[in-house]
Amino acid sequence: MCIFCKIVKGKLPSNKVAENDSFLAFHDINPQAPIHVLVIPKLHVECFQDTAGEMMAEMTPFIQKVATKLGLDSNGYRLITNNGDDGGQEVKHLHFHLLGGTKLKWDRMVADPKAENI
Ligand code: AMP
Repeated sequence: MCIFCKIVKGKLPSNKVAENDSFLAFHDINPQAPIHVLVIPKLHVECFQDTAGEMMAEMTPFIQKVATKLGLDSNGYRLITNNGDDGGQEVKHLHFHLLGGTKLKWDRMVADPKAENI
Protein backbone atom coordinates (compact mmCIF):
# COMPACT_ATOMS: atom_id res chain seq x y z
CA MET A 1 0.00 0.00 0.00
CA CYS A 2 1.43 3.45 -0.91
CA ILE A 3 2.03 6.09 1.77
CA PHE A 4 -0.87 8.27 0.67
CA CYS A 5 -3.25 5.28 0.78
CA LYS A 6 -1.98 4.71 4.34
CA ILE A 7 -2.81 8.35 5.16
CA VAL A 8 -6.29 7.93 3.64
CA LYS A 9 -6.86 4.82 5.78
CA GLY A 10 -5.53 6.51 8.95
CA LYS A 11 -2.53 4.15 9.18
CA LEU A 12 -0.18 7.14 8.89
CA PRO A 13 -0.87 10.53 10.51
CA SER A 14 -1.49 13.70 8.52
CA ASN A 15 -2.29 17.31 9.25
CA LYS A 16 -5.65 17.49 7.51
CA VAL A 17 -7.06 20.65 5.94
CA ALA A 18 -10.25 19.27 4.39
CA GLU A 19 -11.84 16.07 3.23
CA ASN A 20 -14.97 14.64 1.73
CA ASP A 21 -15.92 11.12 0.63
CA SER A 22 -13.63 11.26 -2.40
CA PHE A 23 -10.73 13.64 -1.66
CA LEU A 24 -8.34 14.65 1.09
CA ALA A 25 -6.16 17.73 1.58
CA PHE A 26 -3.31 17.75 4.11
CA HIS A 27 -0.17 19.77 4.79
CA ASP A 28 3.01 18.65 3.05
CA ILE A 29 5.57 17.27 5.51
CA ASN A 30 8.36 19.23 3.78
CA PRO A 31 6.78 22.58 2.84
CA GLN A 32 8.26 24.56 -0.05
CA ALA A 33 6.17 27.69 0.64
CA PRO A 34 4.42 29.24 3.67
CA ILE A 35 1.37 27.22 2.67
CA HIS A 36 2.01 23.86 0.99
CA VAL A 37 -0.89 21.47 0.94
CA LEU A 38 -1.32 18.22 -0.98
CA VAL A 39 -4.69 17.33 -2.45
CA ILE A 40 -5.28 13.67 -3.28
CA PRO A 41 -8.10 11.39 -4.34
CA LYS A 42 -8.92 8.73 -1.75
CA LEU A 43 -9.00 6.19 -4.57
CA HIS A 44 -5.50 5.11 -5.58
CA VAL A 45 -4.65 6.56 -8.99
CA GLU A 46 -0.97 6.50 -9.85
CA CYS A 47 -0.57 9.79 -11.69
CA PHE A 48 -2.32 12.53 -13.64
CA GLN A 49 -1.79 10.68 -16.93
CA ASP A 50 -3.92 7.79 -15.58
CA THR A 51 -6.65 10.04 -14.17
CA ALA A 52 -10.16 9.98 -15.60
CA GLY A 53 -11.64 13.29 -16.66
CA GLU A 54 -14.66 12.56 -14.46
CA MET A 55 -12.41 12.47 -11.39
CA MET A 56 -10.83 15.80 -12.32
CA ALA A 57 -14.30 17.27 -12.79
CA GLU A 58 -15.04 16.42 -9.13
CA MET A 59 -11.57 17.27 -7.87
CA THR A 60 -11.48 20.76 -9.36
CA PRO A 61 -14.18 22.30 -7.10
CA PHE A 62 -12.68 20.48 -4.08
CA ILE A 63 -9.26 22.06 -4.76
CA GLN A 64 -10.91 25.46 -5.25
CA LYS A 65 -12.68 25.13 -1.88
CA VAL A 66 -9.40 24.16 -0.17
CA ALA A 67 -7.70 27.22 -1.69
CA THR A 68 -10.53 29.42 -0.41
CA LYS A 69 -10.40 27.81 3.05
CA LEU A 70 -6.66 28.58 3.20
CA GLY A 71 -7.28 32.19 2.15
CA LEU A 72 -5.40 31.76 -1.12
CA ASP A 73 -8.24 32.57 -3.49
CA SER A 74 -7.77 36.35 -3.54
CA ASN A 75 -3.98 36.69 -3.89
CA GLY A 76 -3.41 33.50 -5.85
CA TYR A 77 -1.50 30.27 -5.59
CA ARG A 78 0.31 27.65 -7.64
CA LEU A 79 -1.15 24.23 -8.39
CA ILE A 80 1.33 21.58 -9.55
CA THR A 81 1.23 17.89 -10.26
CA ASN A 82 4.45 16.06 -11.00
CA ASN A 83 3.78 13.24 -13.44
CA GLY A 84 6.12 10.25 -13.66
CA ASP A 85 9.87 10.06 -13.35
CA ASP A 86 10.81 12.94 -15.66
CA GLY A 87 8.18 15.06 -13.92
CA GLY A 88 9.86 14.36 -10.58
CA GLN A 89 6.97 12.40 -9.05
CA GLU A 90 8.23 10.65 -5.92
CA VAL A 91 4.94 9.41 -4.48
CA LYS A 92 3.07 7.36 -7.06
CA HIS A 93 -0.41 8.37 -5.94
CA LEU A 94 -1.96 11.33 -7.75
CA HIS A 95 -1.48 14.54 -5.79
CA PHE A 96 -1.69 18.23 -6.48
CA HIS A 97 0.68 20.55 -4.66
CA LEU A 98 -1.21 23.70 -3.63
CA LEU A 99 1.38 26.35 -2.82
CA GLY A 100 0.96 29.93 -1.67
CA GLY A 101 1.07 32.43 1.14
CA THR A 102 3.71 34.57 -0.56
CA LYS A 103 4.72 35.79 -4.02
CA LEU A 104 6.15 32.60 -5.51
CA LYS A 105 9.24 32.51 -7.70
CA TRP A 106 9.21 30.80 -11.07
CA ASP A 107 12.64 29.23 -11.41
CA ARG A 108 14.16 27.39 -14.34
CA MET A 109 13.35 23.68 -14.47
CA VAL A 110 16.69 22.48 -15.86
CA ALA A 111 20.26 23.76 -15.67
CA ASP A 112 20.35 24.89 -19.31
CA PRO A 113 16.93 25.02 -21.02
CA LYS A 114 18.49 25.66 -24.46
CA ALA A 115 20.54 22.45 -24.24
CA GLU A 116 17.60 20.28 -23.20
CA ASN A 117 15.44 20.09 -26.36
CA ILE A 118 12.39 21.75 -24.82
P1 AMP B 1 6.14 14.48 -5.48
O1 AMP B 1 7.62 14.66 -5.54
O2 AMP B 1 5.40 15.38 -6.44
O3 AMP B 1 5.76 13.04 -5.61
O4 AMP B 1 5.70 15.01 -4.07
C1 AMP B 1 5.59 14.18 -2.94
C2 AMP B 1 5.36 15.09 -1.77
O5 AMP B 1 4.87 14.32 -0.70
C3 AMP B 1 6.62 15.81 -1.28
O6 AMP B 1 6.41 17.22 -1.31
C4 AMP B 1 6.78 15.28 0.15
O7 AMP B 1 7.27 16.26 1.03
C5 AMP B 1 5.36 14.87 0.48
N1 AMP B 1 5.22 13.85 1.50
C6 AMP B 1 5.83 12.63 1.54
N2 AMP B 1 5.42 11.93 2.62
C7 AMP B 1 4.52 12.72 3.26
C8 AMP B 1 3.75 12.54 4.45
N3 AMP B 1 3.78 11.42 5.19
N4 AMP B 1 2.92 13.56 4.82
C9 AMP B 1 2.87 14.69 4.10
N5 AMP B 1 3.57 14.90 2.97
C10 AMP B 1 4.39 13.93 2.55
